[in-house]
Amino acid sequence: MRDIILDNLEFIQKKITACCLQNHRDPKEVKLLLATKTVPPARIQIALSAGYTCIAENKVQELGKKYDHLKNSPHNSHFIGHLQSNKIKYLLQYDVGCIQSIDRLDLAQKLNQKLKADNRFIDILIQVNTSREESKFGVSPEKTLDLVRQIALLDNIRIKGLMTIGLFSTNKEKVRECFRLLKNLQLAIIKADIPHVSMEELSMGMRGDYEIAIAEGATIVRIGTAIFGARIYPDSYYWNETRA
Ligand SMILES: *Cc1c(COP(=O)(O)O)cnc(C)c1O
Repeated sequence: MRDIILDNLEFIQKKITACCLQNHRDPKEVKLLLATKTVPPARIQIALSAGYTCIAENKVQELGKKYDHLKNSPHNSHFIGHLQSNKIKYLLQYDVGCIQSIDRLDLAQKLNQKLKADNRFIDILIQVNTSREESKFGVSPEKTLDLVRQIALLDNIRIKGLMTIGLFSTNKEKVRECFRLLKNLQLAIIKADIPHVSMEELSMGMRGDYEIAIAEGATIVRIGTAIFGARIYPDSYYWNETRA
């Protein structure tokens, strides 16, 4: 029997494509990143086999547990959870291509040190707290440009863009403001013309708000439960470790 995951993937991809066309964007510009937290490797494999190969985990330990099961299936691994500096050395064992949640200089410095020692490079996005909710991680919008300037000086880290989690609200205009803010920060950073900084990626938009995010310029949308089904843990377990 055909797995529901395949239907969900097709459904979401169709919606993304339709949304791009509506907004006069090339569907190739928007990548579907699968948020796979709590999803067992065998379920993730179904998506990988169908050609949906961009996946993301939130916790280093969980990433590590799944790594051996998935390492022989070609995929592109992102990290989208809050990162503690004492976990960096573990994270780097698992072939992560992009860390989307860099939000402070000391974390970037420690990451750079470790990369340098291993003679490696990594792509990152800067996570911005566009909703200004205290419970959310991310650098404040006001401090983003400065942080980008400082991290740009670290040789083994390549800044590729920005990431945000929009406000959780039924007020679509308030959600849209978060994404517009991220887009405007991207434009300001491009204008500042900082050496070694690329701003090609805007990771924004999730299950409830990806269509707004695409309209506002997202290049990566992060979707989980709409594809793999509901999780048993509340979102706060993943987004704010102090409340977990
Ligand atoms: C879990 C998660 C998502 C996807 O959320 P769903 O509710 O599963 O669609 C997106 N972004 C981040 C940072 C996440 O942790």
